[in-house]
Amino acid sequence: MVEKVIQLKCSCNQYPWGKRGSDSLSARLCAKTPRTDFKIDENTPYAEMWMGTYPELPSYVLATGENLQDMLDKHSKELVGEAVINKFNHTKIPYLPKVLSIAKALPLQLHPDKSLASKLHARDPSNFTDPNHKPEIAVALGDFEAFVGFKPLSDIKRLMQLPPLQVFLPDVQKPDFDDQTLEHVVKSILTASDEVIKKTNDALMALPREDFGKDAYTPDMIPRLSNQYDKCDNGTVLAIVTMNYLQLKVGEAIYIPADGIHAYLSGDIIECMARSNNVLNTEFCPRAERDSVDLFCSVLTFTPHDKDSAILKSESFERSKYGKTKLYAPPISEFSMLATDLADGERETVEALGGPSIIIVTKGKGTMVADGRQHNLIQGYVYFIAPGVQIEFEAEKGLQMFTAFVE
Ligand SMILES: [Zn+2]
Repeated sequence: MVEKVIQLKCSCNQYPWGKRGSDSLSARLCAKTPRTDFKIDENTPYAEMWMGTYPELPSYVLATGENLQDMLDKHSKELVGEAVINKFNHTKIPYLPKVLSIAKALPLQLHPDKSLASKLHARDPSNFTDPNHKPEIAVALGDFEAFVGFKPLSDIKRLMQLPPLQVFLPDVQKPDFDDQTLEHVVKSILTASDEVIKKTNDALMALPREDFGKDAYTPDMIPRLSNQYDKCDNGTVLAIVTMNYLQLKVGEAIYIPADGIHAYLSGDIIECMARSNNVLNTEFCPRAERDSVDLFCSVLTFTPHDKDSAILKSESFERSKYGKTKLYAPPISEFSMLATDLADGERETVEALGGPSIIIVTKGKGTMVADGRQHNLIQGYVYFIAPGVQIEFEAEKGLQMFTAFVE
């Protein structure tokens, strides 16, 4: 009989935009794993803790040190389940949850859809390490800032009338400012010279705040973003003029569809995505890491096109006995996410899920009874749970947990 609840040992990568040392929640969570060899170095940025079986940064079975994927391959029926194996035609976990600790803007990016991803993977497998798409969600663990999707066309049209921005408009203007006009604007901002970008930034900062209407934050954002990368980063103008700027509170979430433009700016988040690591970067990163503007623009979609449609609302979860568990269900087949919050002494029971799940404790302390055994829940602990296992939670001290799953 194989154990159906498996505690995992996970690790962090060290992208330069991560928070440093023990300021990084992802590093602090990793360091809580019992008997781990992971030690926080205060001078190192820790960006993303990965949970799951993506080969670049896989999770291990804590008790034995075995790679989790090897264990899933050996016991695929019990641990992954026939329903999920048949749905995806493999014995891998179809999603990849992460904890991100963001000190400065991530590259302005999009994740290609399946057909482009498989082409890019065939052409350049070292940069595009799988043929899959990567729609993603992000749930805020505290204050979280992000640029997501495009503003409504009417807002962009209004901002583009500001004298410093008119240079990016098409020579011949159509009566309607439509997505084609927006595409022209995006391209001309992304291909503008350092000199033009610097001049534009200076001219925008010199304008009175009132000129920006409800986008009055714009001039303050310029020095902030310019200091993070450089004064001539085309991403600064693109993000503040054309993209939605969102400030989320704990528990609020966003959904990024395949090919959707986004750049996360600051905060700690739980992220979950389809099993992929494909990304096209442009701006907010060193020039050498920027993928070509033509490729970037050719796959760009114009969804979401306003703040509200970027938001992923949580719903109540029917299989939660005491109503302490919320469901985030993006419109994709690879995963959904549960968030369970318990005050001191509170209980929750979550009925069996139809596929494999991964649970991480982000706050507090308590226990869970699952598959006939009791397990400790302590901040930073991560468990893999097989399909068909009901879980009874009990909080000793305020518990906050997130469960990624597929059915
Ligand atoms: Zn992304």
